[in-house]
Amino acid sequence: MNLARFTPLDPENTTFQDRGACALELRQKRKPWLRDRCLTGFAFIALFFLFLYSLGMSPRAMDEPPSTPDRPHYIRVVILEGQANVKLSVKGGYQLLALDTDEMLLEGKTIRRAACTAMPHGLILGRHTFSLSGFRIHPLGASPVYVNSKAYRGDMDIVRQADKTITVINRVDLEEYLKGVLRAEVSPWWPLEALKAQAVTARTFALYQQRQNGHKAYDVTANVASQLYGGMSMERRRTSRAVNETRGIVLMEGGVIFPAFYHACCGGHTEDASRLWNITAGPLKGVSCRFCGRSPYSFWHYKTTLQGIVRRLEESGYPVTGSRSIHTGPADDSGRLQELYLDTAQDKTVRIPAKNFREIMGDRGIKSTRFQIKVSGDTVFFEGRGWGHGVGLCQWGAFGMAQEGRTYEEILQHYYAGAELVRMEN
Ligand SMILES: [Zn+2]
Repeated sequence: MNLARFTPLDPENTTFQDRGACALELRQKRKPWLRDRCLTGFAFIALFFLFLYSLGMSPRAMDEPPSTPDRPHYIRVVILEGQANVKLSVKGGYQLLALDTDEMLLEGKTIRRAACTAMPHGLILGRHTFSLSGFRIHPLGASPVYVNSKAYRGDMDIVRQADKTITVINRVDLEEYLKGVLRAEVSPWWPLEALKAQAVTARTFALYQQRQNGHKAYDVTANVASQLYGGMSMERRRTSRAVNETRGIVLMEGGVIFPAFYHACCGGHTEDASRLWNITAGPLKGVSCRFCGRSPYSFWHYKTTLQGIVRRLEESGYPVTGSRSIHTGPADDSGRLQELYLDTAQDKTVRIPAKNFREIMGDRGIKSTRFQIKVSGDTVFFEGRGWGHGVGLCQWGAFGMAQEGRTYEEILQHYYAGAELVRMEN
């Protein structure tokens, strides 16, 4: 897969095609200026290592992540961190490679629940001891690698950290990765077009994070900081079909991948990303949504005490001690609040950004910032709509649109208005 090579799904979109062709040429032909730049780069790296040795440091001691020259094909997912040891298995032929040199350390027929432990200067795997900062398990066939009995496709990098803990990074084909993601985000029994819209969104979001994190030891996490990923245990036939039928298709704006955020339910109108974050992508403006009415989160209620709110805000550093009243500021054009106010005992008004308020109170209770409050004595009643930050694809809206017979392209064009659907080619 070459990220620079695109086939716009809309054949009339010639502007974009031109940009893709230009980028492809630069990457494939390796023009002289590029070689010059590589030579300069090598000279710089050599000087850098000389500098490290002058300080008494070796490159290996830095526990640097392995390089991944073919990153566009693969995504690096950290699945475990800070582990004292892990159990590893491969039910078939495998190779064990040193991460920093690619040197083959072992070739075997199977690994049966071998314990892997970090030492000050190396790693122990079963009865083998390796003086290195990390190794890669590369299955020779289709067998997955089992980490603590959980199956993952692709290669597994075992990295020793300076504090003698182990980080486990799954280096997996992007499409296989998505099959381990989709089930965690949507029900596999939803209409196929909704699943396909989610597949394209998840692929785009993963590639955006990969580009943001290229300098880090891994591209994405396996938790909500990126997207939930459970390896093979999360794969289902219908979600995998949605990934296969949208293979390589991503969302772009002006030829650039943007952060295709999504959320569970918008409650009637999606949010403009610029109101929450420093992001101004055109397709992340708010749009109206009449499709998510069947969501269990379309309307919600929550009740708590003013005392409880004050306590939580105080714990988060807000000077609201003794506050006796809470009220809301105006809503934006998506219906979401921007601010809440608490009046303190010293006749001061403390301003709380609504998104901070939701984070502090927890999104199980305050599911969105689209709410109204009523206060009765010390009790505060919340009436709200939707679940999530509200930016980008409304998952329950995608469900509703698919049930009305809309295609995944139509769903994505609704929630990411102005975005291009582009197929990346291998
Ligand atoms: Zn919606």
